[in-house]
Amino acid sequence: MKSPERLRIVGAAVYDPLNGIQGDVRDICIEDGRIVAQVPLGTPTLNARGTIVMPGGVDIHSHVASSACNHARRLLPEEHTAEPVPAPELRDGEAPARSGTGGTLPSTFTTGYRYAGLGYTTVFDAAVAPLTARHSHEEFDDTPIVDGGFFVLLGNDEYLLRQIETGNPDRARDYAAWILGATGGYAIKVVNPGGIQAWKSGQRNLTEIDQPLGSSRVTPRAILETLTDAANSLRLPHPVHIHCNNLGVPGNARTTLQSMETLAGRRAHFTHLQFHCYGGGAGDGWSSAAQRVIEYLNANPLLSADVGQVMFGPATTISADAPIEYLLHANSGRKWTNIDVELETGCGIVPYSFQERAAVSALQWAVGLELFLLSADPWRLVLSTDHPNGGSFLSYPTLIQQLMDRDARAEQLKRVNAKLLAGSVLADGLSREYTLNEIAIVTRAGPARLLGLRHKGHLGVGADADLTFYSRERNIARMFARPRYVIKGGVLVVEEGQLRRAPAGRRLRVSPGHDTAVLRDLRRHFNAHATVAFENFPVRGLRDAPMEIG
Ligand SMILES: [Zn+2]
Repeated sequence: MKSPERLRIVGAAVYDPLNGIQGDVRDICIEDGRIVAQVPLGTPTLNARGTIVMPGGVDIHSHVASSACNHARRLLPEEHTAEPVPAPELRDGEAPARSGTGGTLPSTFTTGYRYAGLGYTTVFDAAVAPLTARHSHEEFDDTPIVDGGFFVLLGNDEYLLRQIETGNPDRARDYAAWILGATGGYAIKVVNPGGIQAWKSGQRNLTEIDQPLGSSRVTPRAILETLTDAANSLRLPHPVHIHCNNLGVPGNARTTLQSMETLAGRRAHFTHLQFHCYGGGAGDGWSSAAQRVIEYLNANPLLSADVGQVMFGPATTISADAPIEYLLHANSGRKWTNIDVELETGCGIVPYSFQERAAVSALQWAVGLELFLLSADPWRLVLSTDHPNGGSFLSYPTLIQQLMDRDARAEQLKRVNAKLLAGSVLADGLSREYTLNEIAIVTRAGPARLLGLRHKGHLGVGADADLTFYSRERNIARMFARPRYVIKGGVLVVEEGQLRRAPAGRRLRVSPGHDTAVLRDLRRHFNAHATVAFENFPVRGLRDAPMEIG
């Protein structure tokens, strides 16, 4: 029998918010990839004096492993020529490291190396069309180190819309359960409920939450309610993950608040909230409505959100929200691609750049920070840039600096176009500075809890041994950009700031039970409308077992 892999870590100041530990120096013991209470005398020791340690970062919303990402990579050869990334020098005996390319959509291997190099050990891709799930699994297989999973796009798909049309929420729930199991997905994602299907089929995008799709009973509100109830009655670890109607449009805070009010009292997650918090509209221009929305979120404990912060610099917008991508393409004049995914959803991609001198970019940046700085509960408003939509995940350290250091924020504010910032609470001066404990919540403990990952986001006994050690530095951005050590599943992957090992990550997925009566109906639906045979649709041969639910 193989002897257990053990390690004792001494000297690090521990930030473990879930267990109420804020900077105490204490030993951490690891055995076979998990945190344990004690290891025997003589166990190898890692001396981490002078560092602070947090659980590995957990990214609740990113775009890293999907057919859409690959389309975006194909659209952006200029990024590949601009930033070749040589293979890292791994330790002897490791599988060969791979070179790749950088930019806003790094190649798969580079994505894994860079996330781990930043201290992130778990990443979710937030938008996968069911039909392309197999591709996502293959990309994750090629993305080393990080544990990963994805959210499955529903809410613009023919079969679900038919169940709503015919008043059959139980069938809709069984279908959602089947889709999650068949695709190896983790949660239900809804993007611009109904609007993508409307736009694809020649109707205009839906802009009101009670606007019918065609002549049907299907409305954005009905889609939101159906999918929220499906996720909750299936007891999924993560509630429905909602990208509201009217993303990026002035005046859209009204739609966002209506969507939240519809679901108040039920568990639901609103993603990249920043893109949904604008006032003005109808000839009135743009303004921030962050305060109104965050006050509503603060007061409703079952609702949660991630921010989708905009960071200045290059980005690539990549979204199932094809009508919005079309608008962005038309307004920016940048190249684009659109992909309709058969019976399921859409996808648009437009390269973009958020510029300090552009008034709307500056407003978007301010709105995101207002959400962070007015949030009453870091467990329910967590960090994201909607990589690579609001900016690359590589900008997280700069964002953390802007949250922790009001001077850094003020410096940035001085450089931006302030034309639309009249009445912005950020411009009026928000003095809050996030503590290290709050950063540990919004970057790991909070996302892990919202995702229902009981073994992640904390350092208690039984947790996955995913840990990130930062050397204390005055420059917060530098400190968070280059962890001194990173441990993933008990394996020391980063040593003295250098990536040294690249084990494969695990897949996080669910397979909820359902009434099998749905299968016969689905087979009929596939036979009549799909190009893929029903038997060929489910993804097979996944290595990791589904997570237990309940
Ligand atoms: Zn997204």
